[in-house]
Amino acid sequence: MNNIILLGPPGAGKGTQAQRLVERRGMVQLSTGDMLRAAVKEGSEIGLKAKAVMDAGRLVSDEIVTGCVSERLDQPDVAGGVIFDGFPRTTAQAEALDRLLAEKGMQLGAVVEIRVPDEYLVDRIKTRAAQTGGTRADDNEETLKQRLSIYHAETAPLIDYYRSGGKLVSIDGTAEIDAVTAAMEEALDARVDG
Ligand code: AMP
Repeated sequence: MNNIILLGPPGAGKGTQAQRLVERRGMVQLSTGDMLRAAVKEGSEIGLKAKAVMDAGRLVSDEIVTGCVSERLDQPDVAGGVIFDGFPRTTAQAEALDRLLAEKGMQLGAVVEIRVPDEYLVDRIKTRAAQTGGTRADDNEETLKQRLSIYHAETAPLIDYYRSGGKLVSIDGTAEIDAVTAAMEEALDARVDG
């Protein structure tokens, strides 16, 4: 089974769709946001460094994030296929991921871009904030604006990075959750081996 990246702005539904792939395909979800939130909760050295940056909606350093990913990829359960959710977010991270995958003998099957225009995202983040009872300090309108502007500046260029590598599949993320899952599965079945 191959490995895939979910690319898209905050609130696009990457986490929700990743969970569905976990259930349906037995893949593992690698969410750097979840890993960092766990580190903050534990109060580890990484968590202490990351907290203020995350609360402000900025990006944690490439070095820290790439280090977390590298460690995670050494665990045996990744053999069933990894869904990268929220990583890579910068060109430097994408290049680091290329190196890590090569080193570990892993392949990238596809990069799924979940497209959602900015104007949809404010409402989605408000809904998520209500559903999660405010457990994410960065789910508010002000921080979302910052996260979105960073997405456009730092992460959106990865769309071209992967398009030129022939790996990109773009799907409409404004559809119903089930329809997005169906589109994603169809795209993956056409792209990902085994
Ligand atoms: P997420 O749950 O993916 O929305 O991530 C929440 C926050 O964690 C982001 O706003 C960043 O502050 C940080 N973060 C998560 N993934 C990365 C990454 N790949 N690179 C840098 N910062 C990240």
